[in-house]
Amino acid sequence: MYPNLELFIGGKWRKTARDMPVVNPATEEEIGRLPHAEKKDLDDALEAAEKGFQLWSKTAPRDRADTILRAAAILRARQDEIALAITAEHGKPLPQARQEVIRGAEFFEWDAGEAMRTYGRVIPAARGQKFTVHHQPIGVVAAFSPWNFPLSQPARKIGGALAAGCSIILKAAEETPAGAIHIVRAFAEAGLPAGVLNLVFGTPSEISDHLIPQSSVRLVAFTGSTAVGRHLTTLAAQHMTPVLMELGGHAPVIVCEDTDVEKAAISGAMRKMRNAGQVCTSPTRFFVHESIFDSFTEKFVERAAATVVGNGMDDGVEMGPLANERRVPALTQQVENARAAGAEVRTGGARHGTTGYFFQPTVLTNVPDHAHIMQEEPFGPIAVINPVSCLENAIQQANSVPYGLAGYAFTNRADYIDHMIDTVEVGNLSINTLEASMPETPFGGVKSSGYGREGGTEGLDNYMTIKNVWHSAD
Ligand code: NAD
Repeated sequence: MYPNLELFIGGKWRKTARDMPVVNPATEEEIGRLPHAEKKDLDDALEAAEKGFQLWSKTAPRDRADTILRAAAILRARQDEIALAITAEHGKPLPQARQEVIRGAEFFEWDAGEAMRTYGRVIPAARGQKFTVHHQPIGVVAAFSPWNFPLSQPARKIGGALAAGCSIILKAAEETPAGAIHIVRAFAEAGLPAGVLNLVFGTPSEISDHLIPQSSVRLVAFTGSTAVGRHLTTLAAQHMTPVLMELGGHAPVIVCEDTDVEKAAISGAMRKMRNAGQVCTSPTRFFVHESIFDSFTEKFVERAAATVVGNGMDDGVEMGPLANERRVPALTQQVENARAAGAEVRTGGARHGTTGYFFQPTVLTNVPDHAHIMQEEPFGPIAVINPVSCLENAIQQANSVPYGLAGYAFTNRADYIDHMIDTVEVGNLSINTLEASMPETPFGGVKSSGYGREGGTEGLDNYMTIKNVWHSAD
């Protein structure tokens, strides 16, 4: 059920001398061994990607789209097999893993369509002169994807790069390699030429330190923490290499006095616990109008505490473990710091069970501004609920963090909605829903949440460069 773990370089699978265990976070059992790329493997991947770029950038957009669509169809057909592997390595409930496979296929399908719509333009000029603007694939992409969505995160990067006509070297997350391996398999079977898509694993800093300075690498695409994103951006800047950065978030949820309290509270608690809170758009800081604070909090705590926690393979489980061991002490420290600062722990707050990296669904209320959790994203199943006196107060709180990825609000008042569109500092604002992105909508952040967009008609922009041509007839 769990795939053979290998690197994929120049169209061939390979093992290496060094490897590391991959562990099921629900059982702490080893489920596979992952080869580590050495310098030679990375150099081979670079050479393969350079050749792959020469070939793929000349391939007609329609043919690129056809290959991507064939790979997406293979992923859809293997949904059950891939979902089992994702749940084994990541821990999320099986139905969520199945949804993730479909979401990944949808990203590819959208990007395939966009491959055929990277239009240039003609700028009016004097007779005998022509100004034309051409969008061209940027070159070899070095991409780094995280462990929270083992398949759909790599799909974002691979889909954008391949649709634009780029080749790519992807370092997927070492904790959760199977999603990326299944994507590569699907593309190999779909007839993608050798060298266009290369997959490596290893020591993250060794790989980024080696790949980013290479002159053939023309874009660095990263999803992960702001700290690592800042480091990679600094490295890329030494070489004037552009970056696409999808970094952390600390999403505010503004709950206004006119909303359906029960609906907002229950959907908020359920959404918070999805993927054990390990989502960059996870709703975390709930700012609730003081007139409905008590009723909202009561319903929220009740639903959060009722979350069924367990092995994602088991029927009825709503929340699995954290994806890796280091997140358990990180979350415990955040709760203890908030408690010491004066917050109330209304439910949860500690490790769940003794085997596996489980954490209890946790709700903190009346958390003072100076508690660490008010500035640092938990990236786990912890919600903060604080009362606010008015919309202005809520917006000021929402904007008080360095992050600006997703933001949410519950209200039906048009004046409130218009005001929030103008003032909430996020890349994605959702009203009366806790969904934040679709394949057809642009996704990305402002402030320390990064820059560049994935998805939407903007999704290929980072993967393309713009050439202006001035053609004079005389
Ligand atoms: P981390 O910062 O150590 O790692 C995050 C990701 O970056 C991992 O996939 C890791 O392999 C990669 N990485 C780390 N150092 C790297 C380097 N030098 N070069 C290239 N890649 C590198 O954090 P973590 O403990 O794995 O996760 C916790 C934090 O990561 C969370 O607080 C959250 O902010 C962030 N995160 C964000 C997302 C997201 O979707 N934006 C996803 C996963 C993790």
